[in-house]
Amino acid sequence: MYSMSRYAPSANVSELRESATIAVSTRAKALRAAGRPVIDLGAGEPDFPTPACVMEAAHRALDAGHTRYTAVEGIAPLRAVIAQRATMLRGTPVDPADVVVSTGTKQALFNACFSLFGAGDEVLVPTPGWTSYYQMLSLSRATPVAVVGSRQRQLKVTPDDLSRAATSRTRGIMLNSPCNPTGAVYSRDELLEIVALAAEHGWWIVSDEIYRAISYHGIAESLLTLAGEWPRVVIVDGLAKTFAMTGWRIGWSIAPRPLSAAMAALQSHTTSNATTLSQHAAVAALTMPEANEASRLMVAEFKRRRDRALGELRSAGAEVLEPTGAFYLFIRVADASSADPEPGTRFAHRLLEELNVAVVPGVAFGTPEWIRLSYAAPIEDVLEGVRRVVRAGIS
Ligand code: PMP
Repeated sequence: MYSMSRYAPSANVSELRESATIAVSTRAKALRAAGRPVIDLGAGEPDFPTPACVMEAAHRALDAGHTRYTAVEGIAPLRAVIAQRATMLRGTPVDPADVVVSTGTKQALFNACFSLFGAGDEVLVPTPGWTSYYQMLSLSRATPVAVVGSRQRQLKVTPDDLSRAATSRTRGIMLNSPCNPTGAVYSRDELLEIVALAAEHGWWIVSDEIYRAISYHGIAESLLTLAGEWPRVVIVDGLAKTFAMTGWRIGWSIAPRPLSAAMAALQSHTTSNATTLSQHAAVAALTMPEANEASRLMVAEFKRRRDRALGELRSAGAEVLEPTGAFYLFIRVADASSADPEPGTRFAHRLLEELNVAVVPGVAFGTPEWIRLSYAAPIEDVLEGVRRVVRAGIS
């Protein structure tokens, strides 16, 4: 046995826990390896192959010997195509120099949080929110302030909710539309109101748009289009979800130049460039019509699963949010009480251990009365999983 005091990690990470979403997948995989027929609806990962044209581009890059370091911020053709797409959304030119390519959207988000916020700063996190925002802000020594939206509004926050949570120390807000874990999509008007509030108070907005293309009423709005004259905006995005490229680890940020320079400097001391081969594949993903078509078909399949699963849950009387984007169902399992402050955790545990279905407890997103079920899995698994959720008994 290790002696904990001898091997105690530093205060930088002593409070840090493994990502709850990853922990669920790890446990599900371990049970499967031990022979249990586990249905894994915990993962936030498309169950589709990367489009063939992207794989071919990676092969070509390998054949051409693209195996060395690149500029920390990424290869010029990739930054150019990202800037070009952003220019179309914004309507005014986005300079490739404002783009930093990172090892996944996760790194782009961490670069942004660490470069923008520090000790004494408070940052508003619409809650439920993606589990890593809270931890990334804490690692930056800032304080994440959870702002819970109302159930009548799909748990989305309003400017009033945000204003009530704000103090003189508030420096920014983390936005995520479509939202992981709820699948809620903020409308144009809702986003404009939030931008106006940020502009009034001088807040930064970190807009995580990784699910923007996975949206069931047309592509979701980008803050590139809606931020107008307000300059304190960092857009983060990536390929993992849109193009089923989770393992390729490509994300990016678009930010005002001084901030981009700071994020690139940070990245130069942590990981340097994102994987060279993946960057070349990323150019193909963002430019080839075949990749776009593959993504469109994937979204259509997600919608088909959503409709079926939502129908089953509703007819069983479950309280479930109607997701209009991403690929998650957010289900309320019970009221929290002093006897059970985390009913979602208990439910998820029982569901996995007794009924062999892995889902993520809502506490991972700041809402302990809920569970998140991913429908990025074959439709038979999703529907069987939903039936077992119902069988486990939602009150
Ligand atoms: N943001 C959100 C909201 C996510 O759900 C995820 C992945 N689960 C990420 C960022 C990280 O994405 P990537 O794989 O590109 O690092």
